[in-house]
Amino acid sequence: MSGKINLLDLDRDAMMAFFTGIGEKPFRASQILKWIYQQGILDFAQMTNLSKTMREKLAQIACIKFPEVVTEQVSSDGTRKWLLRVDAQNCIETVFIPEKDRGTLCVSSQVGCALDCSFCSTGKQGFNRNLSVGEIIGQVWIANKALAYYQHRDRIISNIVMMGMGEPLLNFDNVLKAMNLMMDDLAFGLSHRRVTLSTSGIIPGIDKLAEISNVSLAISLHAANNPLRDILVPINKKYPVEALIDASRRYSQSQDGEPITFEYVMLDGVNDTETDAIGLSRLLRGLPAKVNLIPFNPFPGAEYNRSKADTINRFREILMNAGIITLTRKTRGEDIDAACGQLVGQVLSRARRHQMQHVEKSI
Ligand code: SAH
Ligand code: SF4
Repeated sequence: MSGKINLLDLDRDAMMAFFTGIGEKPFRASQILKWIYQQGILDFAQMTNLSKTMREKLAQIACIKFPEVVTEQVSSDGTRKWLLRVDAQNCIETVFIPEKDRGTLCVSSQVGCALDCSFCSTGKQGFNRNLSVGEIIGQVWIANKALAYYQHRDRIISNIVMMGMGEPLLNFDNVLKAMNLMMDDLAFGLSHRRVTLSTSGIIPGIDKLAEISNVSLAISLHAANNPLRDILVPINKKYPVEALIDASRRYSQSQDGEPITFEYVMLDGVNDTETDAIGLSRLLRGLPAKVNLIPFNPFPGAEYNRSKADTINRFREILMNAGIITLTRKTRGEDIDAACGQLVGQVLSRARRHQMQHVEKSI
């Protein structure tokens, strides 16, 4: 395989440049993209609208390489989780959540995460590296294949959320290309409203995204004031709450006023009081915003407990009374550790200091 270009790393523009570079017509890009993402065909020999010479040439210089499926688990509620090997030391996780009216795929962007939010098991694992475009879009291909998309043409995955392992805005270029493929009519063809990027609040990344993309944005807020958010989401010390709200407003404006989703993990006795709810409703005043309350999902060694159902209901009521659409997210796939914040994969952690330097450089 060494030296061969992995075609999964190329979005439409990059694929056209690749074909031009080898002296072929750029429209070959559309043919290849359709074979891979719409037909599910990975063997060049079966790509019958390409000449035999070109198929042979492709086999020599290119490959189509995916993460390897290590395990697939199915929860009692139908949620599925795949453990995928991306290299000798590291595995990532991808989760599919079926609902009545939609099917959501939760995709990972990094091997682990360096941001170390205090309530997140991915963060506790440390960080190894960014995923390549192929490793990100490969998760979507693998899930589609497992859900028999290529047999029945039935679009079971209707929504994709970048909410698996990792901070997507710290792997900006690869995540952007992979999201392009999710939305490209020649690949998975999802509407931009059905592709959501979730971030812990990397402000330069949010502004850059506003310039070049139109995906839906979710912000993991979890606290409405800096002292508390500094503890829960340490990157807040660099990108504090008020500045984050301003960036969210700019993003919404760049999308013709589309609402921003704010995620708020409900931690018993930590961020779930009526005062917290009032603080949150004040902070979001005047912003096109929706709130998703996420009951905390426990993991071994966690220092928090889930808020009581009554507390969550009261919190939601306060926000709704302030005119903010607020949903409490259902906990799914708990019996297979597939819920938000429970994804761990297998991460050979490197020093956090190294990644924090990466945080500075990557935007
Ligand atoms: N790094 C990105 C995306 C991945 S996390 C981000 O932080 O937004 C996806 C969502 O799960 C985030 O809102 C995150 O805050 C939330 N989450 C993390 N740990 C959790 C836990 N233990 N229980 C509930 N939600 C959690
Ligand atoms: Fe990273 Fe998101 Fe987990 Fe924070 S919540 S540690 S940013 S994956």
